[in-house]
Amino acid sequence: MSDKPKSSNRPEFDLIDWIAKQSSSTHGLKLGIGDDAAILSPESGWEWVTAVDCLVEGTHFLRETSLDLVGRKSLAVNLSDMAAMGAVPVSALLGLVIPKSLRRADVERLCSGIFELAETWNVSIAGGDTNSCDGPLMISVTVFGRVESGGAVLRSGAKVGDALFVTGRLGGSLESGRHLSFTPRIAEARELLAIYQPTSMLDVSDGLAGDLLHISRRSGVGFVMEADRVPIHEDVDDSLSFEKRLAHALTDGEDFELLFTVDSEAAERLEEAGELLGTPVTRLGRCVAGTQIQIQLGNELSALSPGGWVHHLG
Ligand code: ADP
Ligand code: MG
Repeated sequence: MSDKPKSSNRPEFDLIDWIAKQSSSTHGLKLGIGDDAAILSPESGWEWVTAVDCLVEGTHFLRETSLDLVGRKSLAVNLSDMAAMGAVPVSALLGLVIPKSLRRADVERLCSGIFELAETWNVSIAGGDTNSCDGPLMISVTVFGRVESGGAVLRSGAKVGDALFVTGRLGGSLESGRHLSFTPRIAEARELLAIYQPTSMLDVSDGLAGDLLHISRRSGVGFVMEADRVPIHEDVDDSLSFEKRLAHALTDGEDFELLFTVDSEAAERLEEAGELLGTPVTRLGRCVAGTQIQIQLGNELSALSPGGWVHHLG
């Protein structure tokens, strides 16, 4: 922007100027907003981890949703992906497609939601792109994080005999609005890496039942989960039957909790601790040979599909 006039009849230029002034962190940046591209400086011994997520009005949030919360979520989902890799978030790019009907104050509210969370996690804003349109609001955030070289936790490392754990509680996130205000489990993930060496990990976005399938497929292992261990969130209506509440916990999604495996020795230590930095952790079950995912309800074993459990296996 340095060769462009400070104020112009192009409102997006003024907006970019405003954005550049808002972002205080320079974490990882050799060159930030203002040129054709940003430059991130690598630190020796670390590697970059990157992810992008798009939020579209009408699909991921409603027109009525408060715009600061929409902004917050657009960054938070990416920070959750960093956590799931065991990475520390460093910098982000903001792609905005703004409906012409939105006022400048609305856009500032949206951006403020992003900046506030960015500040909390010392994430710098490396740049972005700004467009207007006649369609719905769209926000695409790309995040860069760092992890010790070779240290990222993948979905593919679970081994037979490992134990399966989850942080926090599951279910009811969309209905309660928790999906707009959750805390990405970055600190917990780093603590986990340092003390318990997880063998595989992801963040629960599609629901425990569906996301466990990702670990199973990528690692080539099966799981046996105990139904009565699944931590059901208080956001799930407690007047429902246990089976219905369990179904919410397994399939609602948007929990942004960490689902991970550790070896049996670490599992004992972690179960004894019961928490990571004050966040509860629950042992859900174990990793077994084969590719089946089963859930044990009383004495009955059922196959667990992404949509919930399907049939009793006897
Ligand atoms: P170009 O036309 O070369 O892509 P732009 O005018 O789009 O340049 O961007 C100029 C500068 O402003 C770049 O550094 C870009 O990263 C930054 N920028 C544009 N939009 C945003 C945004 N929404 N958030 C943060 N930085 C932005
Ligand atoms: Mg551009």
